[in-house]
Amino acid sequence: MDITNIDKQFVANTYARFPVQLWTGKGSEVFTKTNERYIDLGTGIGVNVFGYADASWSEAVSTQILKLQHTSNLYYTEPCALLAKKICEKTDMKKVFFCNSGAEANECAIKAARRYSVLKYGEGRHTIITLKNSFHGRTLATLAATGQDAFHDDFGPFPEGFVYVEANLESVQKAMDENACCALMLETIQGEGGVVPLDSDFLEKAQILCRERDILLIIDEVQTGNGRTGDLYSYEYNGLKPDIFTTAKGLGGGLPIGACVFGEKTENALGFGSHGSTFGGNSVCCAGALNIFDRLTPELFAEVKKKSEFIISTLSALPEVKSITGRGFMLGIECERSGKEIANACLEKGVLVLTAKQKVRLLPALNIPFDLLEEAIDVLKSVIQTKS
Ligand code: PLP
Repeated sequence: MDITNIDKQFVANTYARFPVQLWTGKGSEVFTKTNERYIDLGTGIGVNVFGYADASWSEAVSTQILKLQHTSNLYYTEPCALLAKKICEKTDMKKVFFCNSGAEANECAIKAARRYSVLKYGEGRHTIITLKNSFHGRTLATLAATGQDAFHDDFGPFPEGFVYVEANLESVQKAMDENACCALMLETIQGEGGVVPLDSDFLEKAQILCRERDILLIIDEVQTGNGRTGDLYSYEYNGLKPDIFTTAKGLGGGLPIGACVFGEKTENALGFGSHGSTFGGNSVCCAGALNIFDRLTPELFAEVKKKSEFIISTLSALPEVKSITGRGFMLGIECERSGKEIANACLEKGVLVLTAKQKVRLLPALNIPFDLLEEAIDVLKSVIQTKS
């Protein structure tokens, strides 16, 4: 069967796929049907935090699937309740709404912020400030929240009530002065925007502005969360305390789950019937996520940081590398060759990497063994050094 052509004929044309069909995987290695091997530094875009077919995660998921796969949210289930408890206990937050993706988690945050404001101040205070170069998802509201024109073309009209500002204090303050705002929403490292970390001083002061005006701080941890940057959530590095944070991707370790997590101010912003999701809190996804969450330990984060330093020190020594941004296992590498060219050349040499804007983006499994990482970085190094 010619899977490539069947896919091209029957799957919607929304993705530019690499010319390879993946068949099986184990840890940070993935194989085609004819056993060609790739070392994976992309983890399905930051999802497979413990790699492919991780034994402990697979067991948690398959044990649950044989017991109870789905119940709807009309009933209590153990994986959902325990996962919410664990997330709250580890982050000092109060309540979790479960959904199926990052965009849905952000939709929930947007609804909750607006409702918080309506319940407290009445109608009208509905504007949400987001940042230029941000990315918050592909649904209409999260596209409207996304501060990049390229994503907006051809899809209007969009839901109203979003303003985009540069990531500096004056611009945020001006937007707060000029609009009746309920929230400021941001990623601490703009992933799709090119792995651009925001300045810690800006973030700290923006949080103070939010507090002074009772404007909610929503942090999008969809890509940065769940150990990716070497902290459980990246806002910890910046010393922030969001009123709401959202996450997805790595949380499920490879199954679709998103979470919108509420702090003290916002825990009751959504009441009975105000929001819902058929699959949200699905038992199998939550059982997988519980397994992942239990293994996101300080020891693992220390390993991530050490291996990240190895990548940074190896690659930054190359004259062809212009900059390396990001933290932990969320790195953007700007080179003389374009990210796309490098990703294609790496594929030919058995290494999977991602791109973000012009950069190469690396999101390896948090437990990638050092010898595999070294092998993959050697390949990446030689590709970066090859003249196009
Ligand atoms: N927010 C951020 C920061 C993301 O990086 C992404 C996806 O890349 C999303 C939201 C959307 O997540 P999903 O594709 O799961 O809807």
